Amino acid sequence: MTANDRPQGFSTLAIHAGEARLKPLDSITDPVVFASTYTFTSTQDVIDFIEQKQPREEYGRYGNPNEKVVEAKLAALEGGESAILYSSGMAAIVGLFMTKLSAGDEVVFFDECYHRSREFCNKHLARFGVVTRQVKTGDYDAMEAVIGPHTKLLVSESPTNPHMSIVDLDRFAEIGRRHGVETLIDATLATPFNVRPLAHGIDYVLHSATKYLGGHNDLLAGVIIGDESKLESVRYLRGIMGAVNSPHNMYLLQRGLKTFALRMRQHNANGQAVAEFLDRHPKIERVYYAGLESHPYHDVAKRTMSGYGGLVTFLVKDADWKRTAKVVDSVKLPRIGPSLGGVESLIEQPLVMSYYQCTPEDREKFGIQDNMIRLACGVEETEDLIADLSQALDQI
Ligand code: PLP
Repeated sequence: MTANDRPQGFSTLAIHAGEARLKPLDSITDPVVFASTYTFTSTQDVIDFIEQKQPREEYGRYGNPNEKVVEAKLAALEGGESAILYSSGMAAIVGLFMTKLSAGDEVVFFDECYHRSREFCNKHLARFGVVTRQVKTGDYDAMEAVIGPHTKLLVSESPTNPHMSIVDLDRFAEIGRRHGVETLIDATLATPFNVRPLAHGIDYVLHSATKYLGGHNDLLAGVIIGDESKLESVRYLRGIMGAVNSPHNMYLLQRGLKTFALRMRQHNANGQAVAEFLDRHPKIERVYYAGLESHPYHDVAKRTMSGYGGLVTFLVKDADWKRTAKVVDSVKLPRIGPSLGGVESLIEQPLVMSYYQCTPEDREKFGIQDNMIRLACGVEETEDLIADLSQALDQI
């Protein structure tokens, strides 16, 4: 809040939230504190710290000053009480699950999710006696039907990756509340610029900060945001697990966030324009983008989101995987690579990039078609991206 209690706008928060007005040496930027440990002046100083009379740094695995600034900034952007940063999005997912789930507990997933989250639950949490149940994305009745006395967490992405399905956050949160089960939304593809799940009653929001929050394809990080009382135990386990961020990584994230709102406007504009272009193109069978009226989740997206992001998934008409690959290989601006949310556009064929070693049956189960392309629009000029896609589609 400003002096007159007027809430600050999003871009202002992205630049200033979490930062001291006066910084060491009168610098406008935060100094990067390269220290793995922090020293004490006396034994009494140590005892005062242990008895929590003195908030201060202790050891790098429990956090660092640069990380604290970014945590405060991300909590402000998300409208949450507290944020915990990890060294990657997956580390954040693992950290939350390992804190909240014990042997005999159950976690319920909407089935369109980042394949590594699914793999962690099915292959690894299972070894510790945690049961994972998956229901079809958007089937709230099926979700309710599998909730039992041992269910501890309801999980979904929104939008989902790569199908761009959108969760009705009010309904998802209400189901959790009614059954006394906590809810987690991985909102990596939306970011707090486009949706703020906590305001809809969701307990935890998670982001791969590697994507839009960092925004420059030059860092990995993950974050969980929610109420401090619910996150205290999560932060404690993070300090033991050691999935921490270097001060330099946090400086990069803080710097990336300064232009977050500006970048998101262009990602949203590019995503919408590219989706509309592809939707009209005679060589395209289908476009998955929540900003299109034809998208099955457009209504719920319109109600809950202020923009739909830069990720556009589409199917090439009458194309096998090789013909589809020709489109990917013919673009000149987007680079071929995994990830999304950076200033440079990226393109990939999910069949090849993430599901190459899966059986055709599994690919069908996960909805990964041979003719599917995922384009993560960066912040280049819209017209340049469209012209490039147009010439690539002319090649087939
Ligand atoms: N959540 C979503 C939706 C993702 O797309 C990804 C990565 O692609 C992750 C989580 C994992 O994030 P990270 O790569 O930072 O570990």
